[in-house]
Amino acid sequence: MSKVVIFLGPAGAGKGTQAKRLAKELNMVQLSTGDMLRDHMARGTELGQQIKAIQNSGQLVSDDIVVALIRDKLSVMDDVRVIFDGFPRTVTQAQALDMLLEELSAPISSVPVLDVPEDILRLRLTKRAEIEKRADDTPQGIEKRLELYRKETSALIPYYEPRGHLYRIDGLGAPEEVYARLKAVI
Ligand code: AMP
Repeated sequence: MSKVVIFLGPAGAGKGTQAKRLAKELNMVQLSTGDMLRDHMARGTELGQQIKAIQNSGQLVSDDIVVALIRDKLSVMDDVRVIFDGFPRTVTQAQALDMLLEELSAPISSVPVLDVPEDILRLRLTKRAEIEKRADDTPQGIEKRLELYRKETSALIPYYEPRGHLYRIDGLGAPEEVYARLKAVI
């Protein structure tokens, strides 16, 4: 049976970590547009070269590009059991996703929002920069991504809220604790 979960939350909130674990436990597929784009850059594809400077500076890649990546993934699925991680990030992307899901008769099951204060996000992302060496975890890249979440992506909260399946989750504490809170609402 289809199941669609959309993870919202700024960079460093723990979306990737939580989405991976949840996907495994619920037999779902995690779709991270950030991972897909990094994979294109690592392989040096035409798309990878095209988006490299944008992604590395923490800006948003165009809606058309990310929607096409998601459309391709969904089009080969028989049963849509998906956790979206880092998509959608704009209202335009959310509208495109609504259309894709309608075509597939796969309604949204829940939209968890991981809430973490910005000062903690900065600390987490700075720490991650030392370990993962992601090209966009520079001080400027971090600020840009936090700003874009505030200005663009947070508009998705009032977009999904009236539908009644948006859950605010305290993203502070150990991954285990956050996961327990998440499981309680999903
Ligand atoms: P993430 O791994 O989700 O933190 O994404 C890393 C970067 O990839 C973002 O800062 C953007 O440059 C790009 N990106 C990932 N997902 C999207 C999206 N849905 N829309 C636009 N850009 C994206």
